[in-house]
Amino acid sequence: MQRERDILLTAHELSAKFYHYLLNNTEAGRPAKEYLRSRGLTDKLIEQFMIGYAPNNWDVLFKFLTKREYDPALMERGGLLSPKSDGTGYVDRFRDRVMFPLWNREGKVIAFAGRIMGDGQPKYLNSPETVLFNKSKNLYHFHQARPDIRKTGQLVLFEGYMDVIKAWSAGVKNGVATMGTALTEEHVEIIRRNADEVVICYDGDNAGQAAILKTIPLLEKARVKQAVALLPKGMDPDEYITAKGTDAFVREVISQPVSAMKFRLIYSRKHHTMVEEEGRKNYVMEAVSMIAELESTIEREFYLKELAREFEVSLDTLKQDCHQIRMQLQ
Ligand code: ATP
Ligand code: MN
Ligand code: MN
Ligand code: MN
Repeated sequence: MQRERDILLTAHELSAKFYHYLLNNTEAGRPAKEYLRSRGLTDKLIEQFMIGYAPNNWDVLFKFLTKREYDPALMERGGLLSPKSDGTGYVDRFRDRVMFPLWNREGKVIAFAGRIMGDGQPKYLNSPETVLFNKSKNLYHFHQARPDIRKTGQLVLFEGYMDVIKAWSAGVKNGVATMGTALTEEHVEIIRRNADEVVICYDGDNAGQAAILKTIPLLEKARVKQAVALLPKGMDPDEYITAKGTDAFVREVISQPVSAMKFRLIYSRKHHTMVEEEGRKNYVMEAVSMIAELESTIEREFYLKELAREFEVSLDTLKQDCHQIRMQLQ
């Protein structure tokens, strides 16, 4: 078993180098290179993240690996090859995709994510779960981000590979991402052991915002401090950087996160109509019940004051309501 793991690790290492070589040095790789350039990735970033290209071909990797005496059946179990549909052999799993190597904590390549270059499904094809790769336990680029996470005590959590890469180019070197899954308790445990504080920087679309709401309680449960960096509606960090530049990203987004409570309030607010009395009233009531769950009296007072000011309700009234809700909570 250990032997299988070791063989698969070297196969992944070699495959990553092979894909990277094909991207940089072949005619077939040229459109992929253009694609990456059009998305704002420099040669330096392509190098740093060892990005590659899997050609539109059924057996380049198959030939590459079998020539080096890798057992195709094992390569299939490792997610690099797929069985032919008629069961007579193996083909490359990834074809005509830009290849992002995924690393484990030791910096060994353990899987790939392959992005299609145009529209089409799936947008990202990942390696399956294998003896090397378990997506609920892995965070993209953690091995490189770790020194900075340790140094600053802070970790920035993104949704996607491109977000991590573009943020890195903006000097945000403590960024990691989940790999197409929601954050799990195993992820949180890794985070808790390495960081004091998390800045959640998910996409500014509905899916991203809803994912933040689910992530907050997980980090709360593990008692990890957290804040939320907000993006304009519909933009993700990668798109923000393309549109506004790296400096703006650091200055306006990463450096100005809001508290988890503030995020919850903003989210709830967006989902109530603020024009009508009814909507305003419902929002205030919902806000008070959220604030009531805060343990610290000072924090509760802080948010209640904001609410009182904004909606011209007396602080005393809000405090009374808040107190009542707290009594019911106990
Ligand atoms: P890009 O910038 O290349 O379009 P993205 O990171 O913005 O990608 P999102 O749609 O925001 O893509 O999804 C966030 C992350 O979810 C991706 O980076 C990827 O890890 C994962 N993901 C998205 N689509 C799929 C898919 N079809 N299968 C598996 N994982 C996916
Ligand atoms: Mn998204
Ligand atoms: Mn995105
Ligand atoms: Mn994106």
